[in-house]
Amino acid sequence: MPEQPKSKKAAPLELPVAYLRGIGPRKASAFRSAGVHTLRDLLYYVPRRYLDRSLSTQIGSLRGETKDEITVIGRITETQMTRGRGGSTRYEAALEDGSGTLTLIWFRQTNQIRKWIKEGYTAAFSGKVTNYGGTLQMAHPESMTLSRGEMEDLRDGKGRWVALYPGGKEFDKVSLDVRGLRTLMDRIVGEYVNSVPEIWPEELRKQYGLPTISQALEMVHRPRNKQECDLGWKRIKFDELVIFQLLWAWTRRRNREKVKGIAYPEVGGLTRKLIEDILPFKLTDAQRRVMREIWNDMKQPFPMTRLLQGDVGSGKTVIALIGMCIAVENGHQAALMAPTGILAEQHYITSRKYLDKLGIPVDLLTGSLTEKARREKHEQLAQGQPGIIIGTHALIQDKVRLPNLGLTIIDEQHRFGVAQRLKLMEPEQSKGRGLDGSDLARPDVLVMTATPIPRSLALTLYGDLDVSRLDEMPPGRGKVKTEARNADFERMKVYERVSKRIHKGDRAFIIFPLVEQSEKLDLAAAVTGHEELSKGVFKGIEVGLLHGRMKVGEKTEAMRRFASGETPVLVSTTVVEVGVDVPEATIMVIEHAERFGLSQLHQLRGRIGRGGRDGYCELLYYPPHGRKAEARLAIMKATNDGFLIAEEDLRIRGMGDFFGTKQSGLPPLRFADIVEDHDLIRIARKAAEDLLNSSPDLAKYPELNAEFRRSALGRVGWLEAG
Ligand code: ADP
Ligand code: MG
Repeated sequence: MPEQPKSKKAAPLELPVAYLRGIGPRKASAFRSAGVHTLRDLLYYVPRRYLDRSLSTQIGSLRGETKDEITVIGRITETQMTRGRGGSTRYEAALEDGSGTLTLIWFRQTNQIRKWIKEGYTAAFSGKVTNYGGTLQMAHPESMTLSRGEMEDLRDGKGRWVALYPGGKEFDKVSLDVRGLRTLMDRIVGEYVNSVPEIWPEELRKQYGLPTISQALEMVHRPRNKQECDLGWKRIKFDELVIFQLLWAWTRRRNREKVKGIAYPEVGGLTRKLIEDILPFKLTDAQRRVMREIWNDMKQPFPMTRLLQGDVGSGKTVIALIGMCIAVENGHQAALMAPTGILAEQHYITSRKYLDKLGIPVDLLTGSLTEKARREKHEQLAQGQPGIIIGTHALIQDKVRLPNLGLTIIDEQHRFGVAQRLKLMEPEQSKGRGLDGSDLARPDVLVMTATPIPRSLALTLYGDLDVSRLDEMPPGRGKVKTEARNADFERMKVYERVSKRIHKGDRAFIIFPLVEQSEKLDLAAAVTGHEELSKGVFKGIEVGLLHGRMKVGEKTEAMRRFASGETPVLVSTTVVEVGVDVPEATIMVIEHAERFGLSQLHQLRGRIGRGGRDGYCELLYYPPHGRKAEARLAIMKATNDGFLIAEEDLRIRGMGDFFGTKQSGLPPLRFADIVEDHDLIRIARKAAEDLLNSSPDLAKYPELNAEFRRSALGRVGWLEAG
């Protein structure tokens, strides 16, 4: 443990930083730009990373390739940009550290890199050293800029572990460079670290192997070695995670205890008839188990809040139908929401197919209705007759009144953000008064997703939900074989093979990407692709076209023609990504597969091989494509397991991108990392449960309770707002 510095001051944690010695209004404004307002914020303004001098390597001591990453510190003495064939570029820089010279090399983003890695640039570079034809080099190293002072410190052997704080332009302006920032932080931490109150009772703190908060902050800001640093971080992350899990646990409890739900008395004859007589297949064991879990919730007097995870094609729709049938049979309305109009239509058709026979009314509400028809439907739904209503999530935003709503099902939840999901779970129409004038009970909610979410992530994103899993595929599925092919060489061969198979009676999806920033361009790609293929290699074959700009009716028609075989080829943008079910489709060609994310590729591929016959998925990529794209294609070739794919996806992309940029509602974790800290997340989840079990209102832990209220309840805004 670090020694206690001699002069320690206590100051109120809410003290604005401008009042601290050595920080005037100018520096305070730089900190403000980084979200640091108070002394508390400042003490938690932790280093971005550390430079471990004892771990840096002298270039002169390198003997060959290295197995692991190493760090070298030095100055750039020479640079060179080389242009290769086909417009590719290579940027090389010579790094000199007094003991020798090492070549650094970049193949991508060379234009940006060239702008800042210039002659005279001084930094620490980390990466693996490889031997390229006798020359040692480091490709795409990670670099960390150092000030001259820092270099000197390192040279002199001062500060074995050097903390590097996130700085930037605003800090530079007030002459807080890397070193200045570190000196300032060093002093602040030294003086004020004891101001932070301890929230853990000694006994629990020891049980979880945590240092005190003052010790932890010292360790994080001024570590003497790696163990100390790790221990400090563990404490800071653990605090954050426990508070977060307490928030979820608290939400779950509040749901059970405070919120009135609907207790369904029975699974009636209609539901039995649906399962035993009408469905053309037997439920899988997994489907039965999940149905039991759902029914268990539905009969309780508190609202169900359940997440159903099941890989693409695992048969979630029928679970939704059975659940809705129970709700209707018990006298309620049930709503099914899909992320796209196409999918809503498809659910509507499937529902009618099975439920018409039971006399259960099914309604569809999408954007394509005329104003008059819509108004009529709204009026009718406001009567509260038991029945099923299917739509997009406009269903909720539309302020449709469903005064008798008993069950809400949200399909393909991963398309919605966390905040949006939470909003959908407490729909507008279920607030207010019921038909009989009484307070409305909150409907049961089932959210379904085909993105198999790594467990640590699920605990963080869906900590308020109970989880069911469909971990078994219905019988009789074909295998899907996947190949990645270089379009420059093999595109036409691929299409010729597809064409032969179509002539033998197969059906194929041809997918073109639709990327937001250039929707028009990519749309054009699908349209020209359609024209080129139908006049060329698919001459004599009917080729359909489907894209997001078409009207709902046109889309449905295109889908119908493909499903019926009238157009055995369907050229489509990614609108078919979620949920579309055409069992006869066995072939999929994905153009520009290098542009797609992993879960998107997995979703797309899930459209084929559904009808029992084997499927073929051809991933056409257009070089040059990056290392990450290469990795994605390799994973797609190697496995069909959605779970593995999700985990790899998270690993390749990191947290920020996992759900795409639209996902604004990610949990605001500052210190912990959902990928790296999964063990800690599990421990924190358990700790939160234990705490609430031993003291439901946390009264036994006043300091922890105060911190929970201050920091977590402040985030309820995040939970409840969009
Ligand atoms: P997803 O989970 O991706 O939404 P779907 O609900 O669309 O999957 O189901 C995929 C296909 O599997 C559908 O054609 C459906 O009729 C079929 N299916 C569902 N359950 C079973 C089962 N128990 N046995 C056979 N086929 C099933
Ligand atoms: Mg589905």
